[in-house]
Amino acid sequence: MALAVQGLKKSFGAVRAVDGIDFEARPGRIFGLLGANGAGKTTTLRMILGLVAPDAGKIRWQGRPLDEKTRREIGYLPEERGLDEQAKVEEVLVYLGTLKGLSPREARRRAAAWLERFGLGAARRRKVKTLSKGNQQKVQFIAAVLHDPALVIFDEPFSGFDPVNVDLIREEMQNLKAQGKTILLSSHRMDQVEALVDELILLRRGRIVRRGTVAALRAAVPVIKYVLEWF
Ligand code: ATP
Repeated sequence: MALAVQGLKKSFGAVRAVDGIDFEARPGRIFGLLGANGAGKTTTLRMILGLVAPDAGKIRWQGRPLDEKTRREIGYLPEERGLDEQAKVEEVLVYLGTLKGLSPREARRRAAAWLERFGLGAARRRKVKTLSKGNQQKVQFIAAVLHDPALVIFDEPFSGFDPVNVDLIREEMQNLKAQGKTILLSSHRMDQVEALVDELILLRRGRIVRRGTVAALRAAVPVIKYVLEWF
């Protein structure tokens, strides 16, 4: 159930957004992609999702290239967020769930359980726009995991989240990890992810400049300096 990326490359004109990236993310582990804005994190994730075509490289999931169907099954919390504000909370989740292959009935059942868990049971029939920003963020998280994906991609999941929700999302990520999901997590903030990630790559200008566990990176003082310099 591993995701393997080999020699991935993508340029936009003269910009080498991703310039030869290799890594392997495993089930029951949280794999971090760290780097400053523009380091190539989103482009890498969008290539895995099939939203950007690579110039070179291979992406394999469970030993096989990702096809359209498997790609649709990936759970994805995009960096650019936004829900249909005029729609009702439950409607949005059921609609997105059916796009991911759930029956409307099953999507409704799961949405209800998740909303209850996040203290939003009573908000089911309210329009998205009447919810606080924090509650909209919770709905967006639910949308990413509703169909119980084996591979989940979180692109800068903490940016714009208030501290209470950051803790909630962290806890939910740990739960997903305990369930054996393969999780990719991108961030430009080491401090927000170091307690979560099992392994990480540091990206700079589309290249991997360091890789390993947080403990290994921490053990090397010059690396910490390096991290601080670039993050
Ligand atoms: P951020 O958190 O700001 O999204 P990132 O690490 O995810 O940063 P990318 O979004 O992957 O970085 O961008 C890497 C580089 O590629 C940047 O220089 C960016 O301007 C450029 N880039 C990304 N997408 C495009 C595009 N569609 N067209 C042109 N340039 C792009």
